[in-house]
Amino acid sequence: MLRRALLGMSRSRGIKNLVTRLPVTSDVVARFVAGESTVQAIAATRQLAGAGLKITIDYLGEDTTSREQADAVALAYVDLLGRLRDAELTPAAEVSVKLSALGQALPEGEKIALEHAHTICGAAETAGTTVTLDAEDHTTTDSTLSVLRELRRDFPRTGAVLQAYLYRTEGDCRDLAVEGSRVRLCKGAYNEPESVAFTDAHEVDRAYVRCLKILLAGPGYPMLATHDPRLIEIGLKLARDNVRPIDSYELQMLYGIRPTEQQRLVNLGHQVRVYLPYGNDWYGYLVRRLAERPANVGFFARSLVSKN
Ligand SMILES: Cc1cc2nc3c(=O)[nH]c(=O)nc-3n(C[C@H](O)[C@H](O)[C@H](O)COP(=O)(O)OP(=O)(O)OC[C@H]3O[C@@H](n4cnc5c(N)ncnc54)[C@H](O)[C@@H]3O)c2cc1C
Repeated sequence: MLRRALLGMSRSRGIKNLVTRLPVTSDVVARFVAGESTVQAIAATRQLAGAGLKITIDYLGEDTTSREQADAVALAYVDLLGRLRDAELTPAAEVSVKLSALGQALPEGEKIALEHAHTICGAAETAGTTVTLDAEDHTTTDSTLSVLRELRRDFPRTGAVLQAYLYRTEGDCRDLAVEGSRVRLCKGAYNEPESVAFTDAHEVDRAYVRCLKILLAGPGYPMLATHDPRLIEIGLKLARDNVRPIDSYELQMLYGIRPTEQQRLVNLGHQVRVYLPYGNDWYGYLVRRLAERPANVGFFARSLVSKN
């Protein structure tokens, strides 16, 4: 209920103006966002890599409304990848990309987003790493998976995120559980209607397990993106049941969420990747993190009062 209300409210311009007056250094933003600059993102990446974690970096931005903005996002990724290579942080670090930030919603947006994503995949290959396409609201899923198919012709290691809450996702898992395919499975963070998605948390968990079974039984490279201890335990058991080598899948969590658990899993020998967002455009990302956990809202409200 609160989750839906927050995700719905996030579209109000007034609320966005109020919230974005928070500095990135405020506690609530800094908990989830690694900084505004590429230098800060690289410093945070270096620290995580030093502790044995892998990283996927997201240059924050979504719902781009102009060609210029889409071009700028693509350039920022190319610059980031060059710097990661120079800093010898690849292949430990890869990048995550939202196609809506690359212009997917513009007229002829799929073509524009594909061109930009192709350029970013080329830069990633040169830097010795890979790209994963984030999943956004359900209206974009077909377009994102179509861009993925095109990208994989030239860059077969390009990955994609699937959201277990969508009814369609079991089928998408079957399609993508193929040799060389990298699939990041998450629960799903958008405000979706009952016509396309499970809205009950237990139903979402059950769907997540069904998807896990498909991905972990297949020859692809599953990426289990969840902080949910039960789902992690089930995922690790399924990996053992399928006699998967420990380097044939990975666990993934978000920057700032359950960091002690991330490190504990690394110490047990698991591959763990942290999704690390940076940049100025953190509003949409932050609202989704608040909506996931009611306790975060109080923390957030206190920070608005004390720092704004
Ligand atoms: C690597 C990664 C990439 C993702 N990419 C996408 C994407 O492309 N598209 C998309 O729709 N969603 C994405 N998500 C978000 C995902 O869909 C969920 O909304 C999010 O992970 C919370 O679900 P959960 O599986 O952790 O389970 P939950 O049941 O929500 O959480 C389990 C436990 O984790 C902790 N926790 C979870 N979220 C928070 C939080 N915000 N603050 C504090 N503690 C928390 C709590 O202890 C909670 O009890 C991604 C998540 C990860 C980890």
